[in-house]
Amino acid sequence: MTNNPPASQHNAIQLQDAGHHIHPFTDTKALNKKGARVINRGEGVYVWDDQGNKMLDAMAGLWCMAIGYGRTEVADAVHAQMQELPYYNTFFQTTHKPVAELAKKLAEISPEAINHTFFTSGGSDANDTMLRLVRHYWASLGKPSKKVIISRKNAYHGSTVAGASLGGMTFMHEQGDLPIPNITHIGQPYWYGEGGDLTPDEFGLLRARELEEKILELGEDKVAAFIAEPVQGAGGVIIPPDSYWPEVQRICDKYEILLVADEVITGFGRTGERFASETYDLKPDVICIAKALSSGYLPIGGVMLSDRLADVVINQGGEFEHGYTYSGHPAACAAALKVLEIMDREDLPNYVKNDIGPYLQERWLKLADHPLVGEARMVGLMGALELTPDKATRAKFAVKAGTVGLMCREFCFDNGLVMRAVGDTMIISPPLVLSHDEADELIAKATAVLDLTYAAAKEAGYL
Ligand code: PMP
Repeated sequence: MTNNPPASQHNAIQLQDAGHHIHPFTDTKALNKKGARVINRGEGVYVWDDQGNKMLDAMAGLWCMAIGYGRTEVADAVHAQMQELPYYNTFFQTTHKPVAELAKKLAEISPEAINHTFFTSGGSDANDTMLRLVRHYWASLGKPSKKVIISRKNAYHGSTVAGASLGGMTFMHEQGDLPIPNITHIGQPYWYGEGGDLTPDEFGLLRARELEEKILELGEDKVAAFIAEPVQGAGGVIIPPDSYWPEVQRICDKYEILLVADEVITGFGRTGERFASETYDLKPDVICIAKALSSGYLPIGGVMLSDRLADVVINQGGEFEHGYTYSGHPAACAAALKVLEIMDREDLPNYVKNDIGPYLQERWLKLADHPLVGEARMVGLMGALELTPDKATRAKFAVKAGTVGLMCREFCFDNGLVMRAVGDTMIISPPLVLSHDEADELIAKATAVLDLTYAAAKEAGYL
């Protein structure tokens, strides 16, 4: 079924958009010249644009659409909540049923030591909240000098001032004098791009030990926390070598540095466990969540605290001077509760771990045989393809980084597949409900698109 608007209506949407809408992470002037693609429907793992083009959404929207589009149950739950109580705040000694229920549910499904949640509207403000919470924690313990948060180059932790500062994307720092003080960045465990002649495990250890060096350089009395995505998402689905996380955990334990797992992408089944902290056997003190918590049906995020932190913040911290109008928004909580119920009912983390994950992974890893692909990697249902002119040396293209990636992304759109390009790395993070047939379709389309990209790159002289 398609419901294409008449051309005039399509153009009207594009004109309104070009005239008045500033897009995130976009050169709006360049976009306005060609007109934005108008997406108007989603069902399962597919989206349609208003020209009737159907696309397999291998990015699950923006990593969030875990349970797939078009779940009327979620819409119904939100509708009912909106009729009963569309909004009330949680500031002035008040609460409401959906927020209390959701906090309890999160305590049940999160790792054992994590039992409290502070709610936000998304992932960026979750990280802002985290920064204030961990500093408040140390100050409440009489150690206000423990302020510095160590993060990693090429990390993504959001777009707010604290989120972008915590992130390690220099092109973001360049706009607006970031990072803010007391945030510092160490190297990332990106073996394909930076590991040189070291084995992945040697390289993983090297990068983990940068954390120890940084703590010793700053003094452990100055360091509050280390923050990391268990698997870097926006940085290019960077799956750390096996040696990395155990060493980081050892270092955090040794120096009493809080470990913050930013699970905004990896939370709720993406890596085949409810949390990637379980996949990598981490014992985080804080877990930041958003995205799949509500599968994108409504905006909601949160910061989950371990008992050790919650005890101090609640029992010694006094008033925490922080909060958002939409902390614990009733309709967003109702959406999240229904999404979590569906995930349980359909046993989605288990489906990812033992069924669709291995099924897709087996086929995805074979894409490394393609002449354009230097490495294919995947954990759970998040994967990457490194495009290269020379597999043997993992070389970069002679043309500006990202040129070939962008070509590939455009071929994807033209061939009914949504993949994202991070430089010359193609990434996917499909809905967790992907079926075997849809996985086959994804692989067939990705193969065709790689062939087209290879031919075009060759013709352009990039190979
Ligand atoms: N942390 C991580 C790991 C993310 O991937 C993102 C978003 N891609 C964020 C934080 C920011 O979340 P939001 O866009 O909801 O503010």
